[in-house]
Amino acid sequence: MSGTGQPVFAAVADDDTGATDLAGMLADQGLRTVLLIDLPAPADYERWTAAHDAVIAGVGTRALAPREAYEKTRAAVRMLRSGGPAAIGIKYCSTFDSTREGNIGPSIDAAMDETGEPFTIALPALPVNGRTTYMGYHFVHRQLLSESPMRHHPLTPMTEPNLVRHLQAQTRRKVGLAAAPCVSAGPAALEREFGRLRADGVAIAILDCTSDRDLETIGEAIATMPLITGSSAPAMKLPAVWRRRGVLPSAGEAIEAGTGEADGCGFLIVAGSCSEATRRQNSWAAANGAELHRLEAEELLRFTGGGEAAIPAVLAGLRAGRTCLLSISSDPEGVRRVQEKAAAAGLSPAAAGLKIADRLAAVVRGIVERQPPRGLLVAGGETASAICRTLELGALEVGRNIEPGVPLCCSLGRFRTAVILKSGNFGSEDFYRRAERRVR
Ligand code: ADP
Repeated sequence: MSGTGQPVFAAVADDDTGATDLAGMLADQGLRTVLLIDLPAPADYERWTAAHDAVIAGVGTRALAPREAYEKTRAAVRMLRSGGPAAIGIKYCSTFDSTREGNIGPSIDAAMDETGEPFTIALPALPVNGRTTYMGYHFVHRQLLSESPMRHHPLTPMTEPNLVRHLQAQTRRKVGLAAAPCVSAGPAALEREFGRLRADGVAIAILDCTSDRDLETIGEAIATMPLITGSSAPAMKLPAVWRRRGVLPSAGEAIEAGTGEADGCGFLIVAGSCSEATRRQNSWAAANGAELHRLEAEELLRFTGGGEAAIPAVLAGLRAGRTCLLSISSDPEGVRRVQEKAAAAGLSPAAAGLKIADRLAAVVRGIVERQPPRGLLVAGGETASAICRTLELGALEVGRNIEPGVPLCCSLGRFRTAVILKSGNFGSEDFYRRAERRVR
């Protein structure tokens, strides 16, 4: 129960920006929320999670081998369960990003094996962002998943729109469907359907969900389940239900994160994402007073010390109190050129991306070690994972969202600074300015 220092909810997320998306949603609803970057040592775990209502662990398993993802998720569930939460969650992307081999099935298996729970739900839908499921088929806005841009994703191309079939290929447990008519019939009917599915041997039930009203029904029906899985959608409804049922105290002001210790110096933005939204945000920032420092992806890929030369200029900018944008973002044509060069050197696109992100993170470390910025904003999921780990940020205290899916956080590990992790495609054109204003 909240207030006794015991979290009500603990979840494992398969990437860090997905973890901040979920965590921000909880903080917006007044839950004191902490985000762990990987699994800390037991003493740090105790210290960082004390007196929190929700603990989210970002474990970066989305692109790992299925067995590795299973082991890592299971270890995370084990650690989170030690805090005694009322519910455990497994968080994945609302476009169900995974290959035929995994990793969503293996992650759910890990949680079911560790908790001993015989039945859980899988709710990938997020109607507010146009992700809906009907008769087990998943949609992105008006397109079937397999006809949406997700079919071209470099790591997890989504070509199977039927999520019952897709998930069934990833697990030995029986996957079933709680279909739209049962969901729209209300919480009691849905709970009866769960009973029927269980009696039928189903262990994981995909939930149809096409509207906010469906989500309300689902929130009521799953409120006492010890294990749930899905997008961040359940977190939109569960806190209110838990409050009504006395699981959480009735207070509920949105939480504000601290903003660190580095007053007086500049704001550092690092853009490793090549998505359209991030490129637009970069152009907007450069045209509105940010100091642009461009790194060449090819140089980061080829040289051990690639990008080091930018460090003194960025330091000078930060010490003068300016907003510095360190960017490797590129248009699709530029990315293709870099990937061709990488392929000639025997590197897959994924390996090249990781190498670039790691090298960029080393440059950021070279800056932050000498001059912690007033705030650090990272654009790009994989880029954020590399930077959080290289900077040993350890854990983030999560505050309310700046824009949907992007909360203001404060790191609790090696550097005490305001941190914003933005998924590449998130945020409005002037998001960087809005984020900087919130930090101030
Ligand atoms: P998003 O959230 O938009 O998917 P990510 O950071 O997860 O952003 O992924 C972007 C990937 O692209 C990273 O691995 C990054 O290192 C890589 N990358 C960035 N710039 C380039 C470039 N110019 N050429 C090739 N790859 C790049």
